[in-house]
Amino acid sequence: MTCKRCHTEVTDLFPSRSWCYDCERHRNREDYWKHRDKRRAYANEYTRMRNARLREDVLDLLGGVCTSCGLSDRRLLGVDHIHGGGRAETRAIGPHGVRSNILKDPTGYQLLCSNCHTLKTKGYL
Ligand SMILES: [Zn+2]
Ligand SMILES: [Zn+2]
Repeated sequence: MTCKRCHTEVTDLFPSRSWCYDCERHRNREDYWKHRDKRRAYANEYTRMRNARLREDVLDLLGGVCTSCGLSDRRLLGVDHIHGGGRAETRAIGPHGVRSNILKDPTGYQLLCSNCHTLKTKGYL
């Protein structure tokens, strides 16, 4: 048998194509590089969307307003660990993991706007 792509005489051709296994391997690799950027962009966009939705769910679950001053601007709201330890938790399981945990059990978390969060960090709250 002769490979239609590289015209080498081979004993085995790739089923459903008329070329050899070497050509099939090369083609897959070329495809991989050709579509890599597109695939990456798609994956990033998907992750971004999923994280954004997860964040929305968390904000809804925790009441949608700052626990301290009642501000409802979602751009300024963030999750606060009532008893601290947020930094360690985020480092251990990542922001995605923290959000998943909150959706499972919101006890111990509250919403704070960035101003109130700063005040708390500085010890004024
Ligand atoms: Zn070939
Ligand atoms: Zn506030």
